[in-house]
Amino acid sequence: MILELKADLSASDIEKLAAKYRADRVKWNGKAILVTDSGHSRIDPADQPSIDRWVDTGSDIQLAHRDWQAAASQLLIGDTPIGGDSHHTLLMAGPCSVESREQALSTAQHLARQGVTVFRAGAYKSRTSPYTFQGLGDEGLDILEEVRQTTGMRIITEVRDATHVAEVIAAADIVQVGAKAMYDHGILAACGEADKPVLIKRHFGATLQEFVQAAEFVLKRGNKQVLLCERGIRTFEKHTRFTIDLTGVAWLKKHVHLPIVVDPSHAMGLSYGVPDLTRAAVAMGVDGVLIEVHPNPADALSDAAQQLSFSDFDELLPSLHAVAKAIGYQLR
Ligand code: PEP
Ligand code: MN
Repeated sequence: MILELKADLSASDIEKLAAKYRADRVKWNGKAILVTDSGHSRIDPADQPSIDRWVDTGSDIQLAHRDWQAAASQLLIGDTPIGGDSHHTLLMAGPCSVESREQALSTAQHLARQGVTVFRAGAYKSRTSPYTFQGLGDEGLDILEEVRQTTGMRIITEVRDATHVAEVIAAADIVQVGAKAMYDHGILAACGEADKPVLIKRHFGATLQEFVQAAEFVLKRGNKQVLLCERGIRTFEKHTRFTIDLTGVAWLKKHVHLPIVVDPSHAMGLSYGVPDLTRAAVAMGVDGVLIEVHPNPADALSDAAQQLSFSDFDELLPSLHAVAKAIGYQLR
């Protein structure tokens, strides 16, 4: 339950209410609010004079729920808005990993020429095997800084674990919390203290409830700049890497006010399916898409099978514009 407190309430009265409802104090649009623990779904009538509005969303999806905030949240990536009711889909693209200066810069320059303003690439990679490329680490972050300086693009890059969370937050315009990191509370807490947009990828074994609850850990610490990214969940299906949950995206659009991004690359795991899935996501009116693009996918050091080549990407782009237009959206 969320309690929106009267503006003239004293600090000690707020303290008493917080203790009574085992609630966290959160600032939301300049107002003091209390978010109670799961056990509370009703307020004591005696407390009504202290409270402007109270909302029971029915579960621990609280601050992200449209019952609490009906309007879609809009946030800024640099000076580019994402989310809200702007009817825009933000294109974010780039290689899975920063592999070298040349690889990152050539990809960024190609994408920038195509109008893409947000460059994706991991420096700290979260890999399933320890015997594969683990990313360039800080050297990769320096290369991403050079991409930003030379192309003017914004950077989304992932944090793998809490050991380098400060470095990634400093280097990124959007901090990506990878699917496997979705349950890392050290990362979520640090992101909650940061003043940067945070894109949380859905763990492949997480229900929608668990996914949005990960976002709640960031929101309740006061960072409202959270994006949710569907990137495929694990099902019984073996022919594709994961199963993209577009039904889940429809559910999120209805019940959650945070911007929604779809990553078709990791869901499919195979480049031939990425164009169709990207078009399907754009057709749903999502706020952003995150696509892997590499100068020479066959030689990529991570996720080689799923990355689009430059020409694949160039071929896809006109159809994305057309699909967006068909539903009254624009790409940016
Ligand atoms: C990635 O974006 O390259 C990545 C590792 O994604 P995920 O965390 O969704 O597997
Ligand atoms: Mn990848």
